Amino acid sequence: MSETEPTTTDAPEPSRRPGRERGRDDGKFGRYGGQFVPEALMPAIEELTDAYERYVLGNEDGFMDEFRERLADFGGRPTPLQRADRLSERYGREIYLKREDLLHGGAHKLNNALGQVLLAKYMGKERIVAETGAGQHGTATAMAAAHLDMPCEIYMGERDINRQRPNVFRMKLNGAEVNPVTAGRGTLKEAISETMRDWATTVENTHYVIGSVVGPHPFPVMVRDFQAVISEEARAQAIETTGELPTDVVACAGGGSNTMGSFAGFVDDDGVALHAIEAGGSTLEVDEEAGVAPNSASLFAGEEGVLHGARTKLLQDSHGQIMESHSVSSGLDYAGVGPELAYLVDEGRVTPVAVDDDAALEGFHRLSNTEGIIPALETAHAFGYLEEHAEDLGERVVVTVSGRGDKDLDAAIEETDKRDVPGAPEMSMFTGGI
Ligand SMILES: *Cc1c(COP(=O)(O)O)cnc(C)c1O
Repeated sequence: MSETEPTTTDAPEPSRRPGRERGRDDGKFGRYGGQFVPEALMPAIEELTDAYERYVLGNEDGFMDEFRERLADFGGRPTPLQRADRLSERYGREIYLKREDLLHGGAHKLNNALGQVLLAKYMGKERIVAETGAGQHGTATAMAAAHLDMPCEIYMGERDINRQRPNVFRMKLNGAEVNPVTAGRGTLKEAISETMRDWATTVENTHYVIGSVVGPHPFPVMVRDFQAVISEEARAQAIETTGELPTDVVACAGGGSNTMGSFAGFVDDDGVALHAIEAGGSTLEVDEEAGVAPNSASLFAGEEGVLHGARTKLLQDSHGQIMESHSVSSGLDYAGVGPELAYLVDEGRVTPVAVDDDAALEGFHRLSNTEGIIPALETAHAFGYLEEHAEDLGERVVVTVSGRGDKDLDAAIEETDKRDVPGAPEMSMFTGGI
């Protein structure tokens, strides 16, 4: 593990990761986390916990060494920590970008997908299943499975399949089977349930690759550990270039894997403020009657409950029913959030902020036209936050660019056209012909 890794600087020791010790028991983070799963899944969960402890924590058979090698030569790590010159000038503080958009696949998701598929191989599994909403996690998993020569099946809601044809094609190009899920509304929530059902009956030869720091223990700690490479690198890179730790780290949060990956290496550095940027959607007001939250701000507006195997903060109505969430970015559109992130918010270690659709669009255009980097709409929330709150931040700010925006160009045209976005190009020439 990182304790024995050579570091690129004479930086202080990488910080101890919270939950690592707790990760050895039941995966509780204060009131959150746990293993709320049907009896049929317990053997799979126990086997996975054992494998996590041996291979990830214990580096048995050199698992973590192989993981890091493959992240380097297949994934393209380390990703740069780049100074953003124009944004630094604009906001009057040093802004550094952790460029996960340059990771293979165009987002941070490969860190986790590659880690889990490789772990499945070490466990002797012969088949991968995963769920996907917009298709980004499915795409990352299909890529990792092709790279490691593992058969792969992706469950995806029928409605999502129709809305995300390029991602469906990407998965199939990489040799994955895409199984449509017709139950319910045909979106992510149903796809997760269907994947759990598959796993419960195939656990002997199958591993379920969960896409974020959610689900029953050990998934939240395991996914965090795979994504922690983001902050391990960023911490060493920041010290190397500035001689100091950053004052702030800013990252967008859906399920929370980008935030936990960006924060893990800094959690024990008390001087580093951590900001989790959630999707504020169109408003933080909730329509109880319709069962709809027009946002995905579960840290900010959520209440304690159990979803997908863990106790955490959830968007729910007064009867405890999970509400439909909304965001302009499909990757943040989830009613829950990882239990460790919920815990760190309650502890006051992480500050949650909701950034609405309008501000996210502004952030999208700001980063594009000032720095020549088109971010994913998820990532754009972090830059919307800078536009609104940069003066609240310290001298040296690291912002994780969780993904690139190529996948979102159609949505960006449509959403830009709907509103008056400061800094956006004239849109009529784009929308007229499309
Ligand atoms: C999926 C995704 C997210 C949100 O998921 P987390 O689990 O919160 O990281 C954020 N940014 C990008 C680019 C994504 O693809």
